[in-house]
Amino acid sequence: MLNIVLFGPPGAGKGTQSEKLIDKYKLTHLSTGDIFRANIKGQTELGTLAKSYMDKGQLVPDEVTIKMLEAEVNKNPNSNGFIFDGFPRTQAQAEALDKLLASKNTSITLMLALEVEEVELKKRLLLRGKDSGRADDQNPDVIQKRIDVYNSETSPVKDFYTAQGKYKGTNGIGEIEEIFNALCSIINAQNKIFK
Ligand code: AMP
Repeated sequence: MLNIVLFGPPGAGKGTQSEKLIDKYKLTHLSTGDIFRANIKGQTELGTLAKSYMDKGQLVPDEVTIKMLEAEVNKNPNSNGFIFDGFPRTQAQAEALDKLLASKNTSITLMLALEVEEVELKKRLLLRGKDSGRADDQNPDVIQKRIDVYNSETSPVKDFYTAQGKYKGTNGIGEIEEIFNALCSIINAQNKIFK
């Protein structure tokens, strides 16, 4: 199995690159943000709870997020592998993911990180807010809060994977195709070892 954590701050291009990667490597895409948004749209109890955090740019509590992610992984028993997009965002989530995958005799192959500086992120998110209709992309205070939460709570997750020798950073600024090719080169090099 090829299990990738696609990592990076909000607006780094994780969603865009995930779409291309799942197509090429035939992986299952699990975006916790997308799943929360689908629950909000479907007016589920989980959606109502998640919205109260998302509207403020805060993280949805670990307990809720981990339970949801585990259920999604369990729905795909025959997958070739997963792209985790927007998960894990805390150390507790990273530990829970390792445990879950170990129970299925598999593990994370790689953490691919898209590196983009803050000014560029803010520009991209405000631009996306105009088209996507995402409330959290339209308010500069919420955008700032999400970047601050990333820096304080999520960024340390890279140390967790660095310690396992799995962290690979790449420049997230440039043409979409160029970034995609850089990600594929990293995956192909690593996947030879993990196959
Ligand atoms: P995203 O679509 O990844 O930018 O996520 C949008 C929002 O959903 C975040 O700002 C959080 O409020 C929430 N969210 C998504 N993934 C997670 C996660 N792994 N842990 C906690 N909250 C999350």
